[in-house]
Amino acid sequence: MHEYAMTKALLEAALKEARKRNAKKINSVELEIGDFTLLNPDQVKTCFDAIKGEFDETVDAKLIIKRAKGMIKCCCGYDGMPDMDQLPLPICPDCGCIAEVIGGKECTIRRMRLEL
Ligand SMILES: [Zn+2]
Repeated sequence: MHEYAMTKALLEAALKEARKRNAKKINSVELEIGDFTLLNPDQVKTCFDAIKGEFDETVDAKLIIKRAKGMIKCCCGYDGMPDMDQLPLPICPDCGCIAEVIGGKECTIRRMRLEL
């Protein structure tokens, strides 16, 4: 239920922002999910659609999900995308070591379209 809790927190954050601006509705929320977040975008979408009916402001809201590429930096000097078959482990495609994650850990609201 990782996705459910995250999606609920996300919706509540969006709602708080919308209410602060006296918006009548949230038309869409654009979310960026990094490759290393362990969140399944399809499940996030399903949860979003299940929860959005609870609030007048979000009932018609659309969720747009963008993936943020995972980026790693390895002690061998490699710098770039991890071995995609090994996700969510940050494995270096050059030497097979577990490398340092430098990108793709985020899960953030990038944009929100409100109806005022
Ligand atoms: Zn390496």
